[in-house]
Amino acid sequence: MSDVEHLRSLLKAHPDFPKKGIVFLDIFPILRDPVAFETLITHFVYRLTSHTIPNSPSKKVDVVVGLDARGFLFGPIIALRLGAAFVPVRKRGKLPGECVTATYEKEYGSDSFEMQADAIQPGQNVIVIDDLIATGGSAKAAGELVTKRGGKVLEYLFVIELTFLKGAQQLNAPVYSMVKAD
Ligand code: IMP
Repeated sequence: MSDVEHLRSLLKAHPDFPKKGIVFLDIFPILRDPVAFETLITHFVYRLTSHTIPNSPSKKVDVVVGLDARGFLFGPIIALRLGAAFVPVRKRGKLPGECVTATYEKEYGSDSFEMQADAIQPGQNVIVIDDLIATGGSAKAAGELVTKRGGKVLEYLFVIELTFLKGAQQLNAPVYSMVKAD
């Protein structure tokens, strides 16, 4: 079994969570297994540093942006390994100081993400990371925040992509997902 197949086998599907009709894919079993967690981090770091992998970003990453909340589990570790900054994108009202805001659509109504205005400098190369992309709405909003501050998204990274929702089509940069679920 390959490393990615092993990581995929650890993901747990929870039918009818958080509500009826939704099958929630849980990444936490990977974090319970230190070897699997290390493998996951190494997988992403290798992609971002080995410029010979087809279609991988060829530029040095300056900033890793992690999405509230499970992007915070991977983003800072990957940023440290890359020697890059980590910047959180949070739900509105959680970050102090001047912030930039972007709104995204959820199943019912809309929500807003914020990022501290001085967190990204114009021209910086950015990776956006989260555990899962579904419709792509939240990642798109994070990309807008990066663009507002003059940053350039090199790639969006996800552990899981729900391919049938076509979220990647919403985004303005290439998408890499370790596991594709349909
Ligand atoms: P999107 O904005 O529709 O792409 O939804 C992605 C966001 O919803 C991410 O922040 C995910 O953490 C969360 N999410 C949606 N479905 C799942 C799931 O099945 N497992 C884990 N997180 C999920």
